[in-house]
Amino acid sequence: MTKQNEQKGGKLIVFSAPSGSGKTTIVRHLLGVKELNLEFSVSATSRAPRGEEKHGIDYYFLSLEDFKRKMKADEFLEWEEVYRDNFYGTLYSEVERIWAMGKNVIFDIDVVGGLRIKKKYRERTLAVFVKPPSVEELKIRLKKRSTESEEKINIRIAKASVEMATAPRFDFIIENDNLEHALEEAEKLVAEHIAKPIFSDVREEE
Ligand code: 5GP
Repeated sequence: MTKQNEQKGGKLIVFSAPSGSGKTTIVRHLLGVKELNLEFSVSATSRAPRGEEKHGIDYYFLSLEDFKRKMKADEFLEWEEVYRDNFYGTLYSEVERIWAMGKNVIFDIDVVGGLRIKKKYRERTLAVFVKPPSVEELKIRLKKRSTESEEKINIRIAKASVEMATAPRFDFIIENDNLEHALEEAEKLVAEHIAKPIFSDVREEE
């Protein structure tokens, strides 16, 4: 996705939402729909692996130092300090890897990163916000997941309220109060976007 080849390649599909909203379930479902020809964009992060997470599958786990070096070298399509000293970002090389497979890229990323990708590649990107039924429900889901401490869960919940306010800036909002409906809607939106031709792909600089 360098200046020379950015007209080539497939579509970019972004799913952003507060963590615990169910977006990961939706993204996993879409990856199983063969006709959509999607491949998951593995993000880089400076946070430590949790539970069974594997390098190169869930994330590219980098040291903080390595992450910052790549930032300086302009290797990221977007990056964000999602939580203090916990950086997350999408490497250009990841998108290139997927396009080289002839596939479309699907992202499961934070709202700021999602909107950045949309801003850079307006036409080829579909940006979908997944809205949890309520902040209360979000709390219950995060607690059920129980991979993190109470303090970390509270940080995520505080962030969720801020993130909810960005929803209107996305192309579509999916309300995830009924998972079956949310999956159907997501599949339809992605199929329609993939079928659309790209006329011009002007990259808007920030
Ligand atoms: P977690 O630590 O739960 O895996 O992820 C924390 C947050 O970082 C989530 O909201 C997730 O969507 C976001 N995130 C994951 N990868 C990226 C990325 O490449 N860029 C940005 N901006 N956010 C990301």
